[in-house]
Amino acid sequence: MSISKKSSPSKITETTSVIAHQLKTPLSGIKSSLEVLLSEDLGSLTRQQREYLELTLASTEKMIFLVKNLLDAARIDEKRLQLNVSNADLVDIVKGVVEDFLTLARAKNSTIVFKVVGEIPFLTIDAIKIQQVINNILYNAIRYNKGKGLITVILKHEGKFIKFSCQDSGIGISDTEKKKVFSKFYRSPRVVELATEGSGLGLFIAKAIIEQSGGKIWFESNEGEGSTFYFTLPVT
Ligand code: ADP
Repeated sequence: MSISKKSSPSKITETTSVIAHQLKTPLSGIKSSLEVLLSEDLGSLTRQQREYLELTLASTEKMIFLVKNLLDAARIDEKRLQLNVSNADLVDIVKGVVEDFLTLARAKNSTIVFKVVGEIPFLTIDAIKIQQVINNILYNAIRYNKGKGLITVILKHEGKFIKFSCQDSGIGISDTEKKKVFSKFYRSPRVVELATEGSGLGLFIAKAIIEQSGGKIWFESNEGEGSTFYFTLPVT
């Protein structure tokens, strides 16, 4: 099943979209070539050659991620974000994202706890896009951590909705920042100072995905104490 909305795009959005599209194919080509070199099918590598190739691959993957986000943001501006929905197990999706982040969380001194409250039925959602939302929320919780962090992820059945929450004990969001976190390209000066990488597109895209899926997304936060991000999805 496919859901989309159409209207005329602005010139800037159109230009961003064209550039991002043009970058997608060559970047995928660079990534494939680097993977072939790293596989050593064409000859063995010295330790230093491998290190440089791995760094180049990591940078290429970041560029591909940014290009994908720019394309999503352009689609949202043009009101043509597409959701490919099917029956999906949200518990499985959250579990997968949590497992993927365990190593990074450990490296950043954080612990992730995942709890399920009540029966969570299968939902009619775009599993890949919902995974993208959870990925972004959890990645932020890890990155915007301070010192030893605890991240608690909860999935809860509440009436006609499933509520996701992700509570962190990180740097928090100040009152002046609060109005802006879902805006396109917004990054608070404090996170820029922390020198963490980011584009400020993640939550803008997350909001569009959740709202188009029939849910809501919001957060509560106290500066210096931590934040909790929530979203709901309808039980169908
Ligand atoms: P990015 O993380 O790439 O900057 P996002 O759209 O995901 O972009 O987030 C926008 C901004 O919201 C972040 O730059 C940061 O200022 C703030 N933010 C998001 N999540 C958190 C969090 N868990 N703790 C503190 N600040 C956050």
